[in-house]
Amino acid sequence: MTTEQTHVIVGASLAGATAAETLRKEGFEGRIVLIGTEDERPYERPPLSKDYLRGESGRDKVYVHDEGFYAEHGIELRLGRTAASLETANGELALDDGERLAYDRLLLATGAEPRRLAIPGGELDGVLYLRSVQDSDTLRERLDRGGALVVVGAGWIGAEVAASARQRGLDVTVIEPASVPLERVLGAEVGAIYRDIHTDHGVQLLLGTGVEAFEGDGAVERVRTSDGRAIACDFVVVGVGVQPRVRLAAEAGIAVDNGILVDEHLQASAPGVFAAGDVANAHHPFYGERIRVEHWANALNQGPAAARNMLGQSVPYERLPYFFSDQYDVGMEYSGFARTWDRVVFRGDPDGREFVAFWLAEDRVVAGMNVNVWDVNEAIQQLIRERVQVDDRRLADPDVPLEELASSRDQAPG
Ligand SMILES: Cc1cc2nc3c(=O)[nH]c(=O)nc-3n(C[C@H](O)[C@H](O)[C@H](O)COP(=O)(O)OP(=O)(O)OC[C@H]3O[C@@H](n4cnc5c(N)ncnc54)[C@H](O)[C@@H]3O)c2cc1C
Repeated sequence: MTTEQTHVIVGASLAGATAAETLRKEGFEGRIVLIGTEDERPYERPPLSKDYLRGESGRDKVYVHDEGFYAEHGIELRLGRTAASLETANGELALDDGERLAYDRLLLATGAEPRRLAIPGGELDGVLYLRSVQDSDTLRERLDRGGALVVVGAGWIGAEVAASARQRGLDVTVIEPASVPLERVLGAEVGAIYRDIHTDHGVQLLLGTGVEAFEGDGAVERVRTSDGRAIACDFVVVGVGVQPRVRLAAEAGIAVDNGILVDEHLQASAPGVFAAGDVANAHHPFYGERIRVEHWANALNQGPAAARNMLGQSVPYERLPYFFSDQYDVGMEYSGFARTWDRVVFRGDPDGREFVAFWLAEDRVVAGMNVNVWDVNEAIQQLIRERVQVDDRRLADPDVPLEELASSRDQAPG
């Protein structure tokens, strides 16, 4: 009889791979099995809508670890294999090829998948989605051929694909029901800046309208909008958000609701089971509520945090949400989490596309975004975390260091 423990990770992407790495770094000497449906070893997705998509960087740049890493660290990497079912009562996982794996601790890092548009013509050739490196390769070949692209949805993926396609010289039309791009996260005021950035780069933006159907003979040739227009195209990219992959957990009776429900230690409702990354709807101590974050930094940091908790270290996950996006020559970082706010304060020059935007609620910064301004992110996070009352004029004044604002707790609101 062996006393060696087995920790199994489902989902061989950023959260899963960084969790496996951390288990070893923290001294776990038992068996680690990392299972992934995709045939590729773990890779990062942000380049897939940016430099990799445009053909400016190669495959070697996207991987989380070198090829030899997993074997060198005794991590059993099972690629092209899917965890099909889970019995939490006896700690056993069944793979799609019938193999059964007993686990002591299980991490579900199953991520998210694109929402599909269930409209007429949705199955036509040339209606594409972007999540995997294969999707990016397919899209890259289309970009190589040139022509006219319609992007459905002006969220982060849609906006980045539109930018990359324009950079490659294609005709690009973006169709979005909201009044500006990225409205859900940034609001109308800051979304308008992104609207202008895309318009300046020659993107046709059809805002305030949806998509009714894709039309064509075998392959998509036109997109029919809800306001009655027909937009001719050679192919379409749909970017209308993602949904967490919860099937495995839900069928096992684990509590799910907009993701796998986990506490601040990333522990799910079943004993010994954890979740991290896009799939985890985690209680966040700072916000006092559950949030599910669909961004790179969250997968990068939650994987290791989950691993430490799997080893019994009891570390709450408290990082503030953070993400970045690059579109044309406009780079940005966003910190915080704002469902509502009462005003936006700008520092710098929004027209010149070099500024910081702050979202405020009751005189406190709840989120901040630096656009083509760098090395301010830590101070922005400190402002949010310290919940300091800020004076709008000082916040807007580039001569007042953000660090100074973040460390002064007693300002009267202006
Ligand atoms: C094109 C693109 C661009 C992006 N750009 C940015 C950006 O600029 N900034 C940013 O902050 N974020 C960006 N993101 C988001 C970021 O990539 C994700 O937040 C991150 O990939 C989440 O990692 P994850 O490990 O949680 O899940 P995922 O990356 O979704 O990986 C989950 C893995 O689990 C596998 N899996 C699922 N179910 C099973 C199962 N039952 N058995 C075995 N394997 C399974 C899946 O096949 C998948 O490989 C981008 C995403 C995309 C797609």
